[in-house]
Amino acid sequence: MLTLQGKGVSGGVAIGRARLLHKERIEITRHLVTDTDTEWQRYEAALAKTVEELERLYEWSREEIGHENAQLFSVHAMMAQDEDFNDAVRYEIMDKKSNAEYAVSQAARQFSAAFANMDDTYMRERASDVGDIAQRILMHLGVGQENADESDSHLATGEGDIICAEDLTPSETVQLDRRSVSAFVTAQGSANSHTAILSRTMNLPAVVGVGEGLGQICNGAVLAVDADNGRVYVDPDAATLRALRLRIEQNAHARTLLQKYRGRESRTLDGHRIEICANIGGIEDMEEVIRNDADGVGLFRSEFLYLGREDFPSEEEQFEAYRRVLEQMPGKRVVVRTLDIGADKQAAYFGLSAEENPALGLRAIRISLTRPDVFLTQARALLRASYYGTLAVMFPFVTSADEVNRLTALWERAKTDLREQGIPYADRVEIGIMIETPAAAIISDRLAPLVDFFSIGSNDLTQYTLALDRQNAALDVFCDSHHEAILRLIRHTVQSARHAGIWVGICGELGADLALTEQFLRMGIDELSVSPAAILPLRERVCTTRVKWPEDHTRKGEKI
Ligand code: PEP
Ligand code: MG
Repeated sequence: MLTLQGKGVSGGVAIGRARLLHKERIEITRHLVTDTDTEWQRYEAALAKTVEELERLYEWSREEIGHENAQLFSVHAMMAQDEDFNDAVRYEIMDKKSNAEYAVSQAARQFSAAFANMDDTYMRERASDVGDIAQRILMHLGVGQENADESDSHLATGEGDIICAEDLTPSETVQLDRRSVSAFVTAQGSANSHTAILSRTMNLPAVVGVGEGLGQICNGAVLAVDADNGRVYVDPDAATLRALRLRIEQNAHARTLLQKYRGRESRTLDGHRIEICANIGGIEDMEEVIRNDADGVGLFRSEFLYLGREDFPSEEEQFEAYRRVLEQMPGKRVVVRTLDIGADKQAAYFGLSAEENPALGLRAIRISLTRPDVFLTQARALLRASYYGTLAVMFPFVTSADEVNRLTALWERAKTDLREQGIPYADRVEIGIMIETPAAAIISDRLAPLVDFFSIGSNDLTQYTLALDRQNAALDVFCDSHHEAILRLIRHTVQSARHAGIWVGICGELGADLALTEQFLRMGIDELSVSPAAILPLRERVCTTRVKWPEDHTRKGEKI
């Protein structure tokens, strides 16, 4: 057993098999075999293990995420047993006397190419499935892993893949297949990066920064990830596995105890109610949002609709995405933040030039203001979707009143266009801004009269106030998220909001920090928006806290 130490950025424990990403594809070479029967049997044994594994994954996922989503595994199991595919492998082994590994890779290449050339989109998409299935068979033939077969017996049903990579970009993270991934481990990575935040949103245990130790993990090795302590055990011994499985049970039990806070208001012992909402990256997160009984969506990071693709999402595509989220939150507010591309969230088709300091560069509303066509498409999609629920929209990375006025003018233009075309949208859509630059926090008293609400982005506020690049893992040790400067800026922002009679929330990670909940309540915060898994622990904290709210507190326009 080998122990790697990193930083746990999303808590929890997971046990599973290592799946290495970004590794050079393993070159599979051909060699001639003399005993073709034995080679065929090797293949049959690997195939049987693959099918068994896929069926197990199907059963487990069906319970966890429902039949429809789990179906992929049963389709893969069927495809693995396809007669034509097996005939192609048999021909390579028996007639051409190739080794089983080569035979599988040849058959996979042939079938992928055939699928890729089909007219039907559904069938074309099956090409990548063939590749996935072949990878599983190859893994069971021992490709890329020395110890996995022997460790197989340690794995229980439902212990899914653990992604291991040098680093993951936010767009790669958001595309991880949640049906089969149970955790991830990276060599690099910082605690406040978007990748770390996403792992919390997706409720995936994650350990970053294990450094060169990552090179010690081979594909298929059994891993036990203790993200609460930032540890990764490679080929864990029986005692470690026992202890960590117990922790998995304890965590599940703790989650069960929190269930009593579902369906309850987030109200302090002395009767003050706030809203505890969810941060999401897209529709895929809504299942967790509902499971954890969020009071609404406080931050929908819309830029994820723009990542991991070749071109801008159309108005129609965006409209569908927003509508689907709104429809799942009847009677509850959904705050969508407009495009926050730039810095670590890059999409090549925007054609942005490389920058010396991307975090201080052309990002978020600076792009919206220089590319009004892109902003107007998003605004139209949002307005159209507003008809299907309670939408609020907020602008990220604001530093001045002028920016807010220009964005509001563009927003109004989108409304006029729709009105002229007779396209309906909601009568009232609240417009807010994120307070995530020191400039915005300092002039929050001037900004408050221009908007309906503030949402404090403590992640960037920390980065810019403390001059700490949130992508730089070496700076994590300098990051004091309770720094007085940050808390003062938050307090000032809340006071500005109160004075103007608008509501104010926190959607950065600090909102989930239970050590600060009481302080935030005392300041008079109206809303905290956190990753779905953090909702119930936070509600428990609010419901068991007594605070005296500021006497001049006004909420959402209420007069004192
Ligand atoms: C923030 O900066 O606090 C925030 C919520 O936005 P993001 O983390 O996406 O930059
Ligand atoms: Mg931000």
